[in-house]
Amino acid sequence: MRITCPLCGTRDRREFTYYGARDYLDRPGEGAAPEAWDSYLHLRDNPAGRTEDLWYHEQGCAAWLAVERDTVTHEIFAVRLVAGGEASGGSIGPKKKPRRKPAGKAAEGQA
Ligand SMILES: [Zn+2]
Repeated sequence: MRITCPLCGTRDRREFTYYGARDYLDRPGEGAAPEAWDSYLHLRDNPAGRTEDLWYHEQGCAAWLAVERDTVTHEIFAVRLVAGGEASGGSIGPKKKPRRKPAGKAAEGQA
């Protein structure tokens, strides 16, 4: 699968990190009911067909993208940049790069 980043052009999907459904941007507001948080954090649809997902261009420009695609055919219909302020809680954007913990502690300074 190849994704066309609006900033970098068409790239192999291995340059991108999949972050889940676009619903992640619909963060409950302050004071939202526990049920709203439960739904936001734990409940996801898993449709076969057309979806809109978040992808992070980790090996490229570090932009967040909303990719509208078909999970069955892998056809991509649209790719657009996700602005940092789009989320109601403002919790995601180019400055919020996900951190991965290293698999093991590297032997620093040793060769
Ligand atoms: Zn890019």
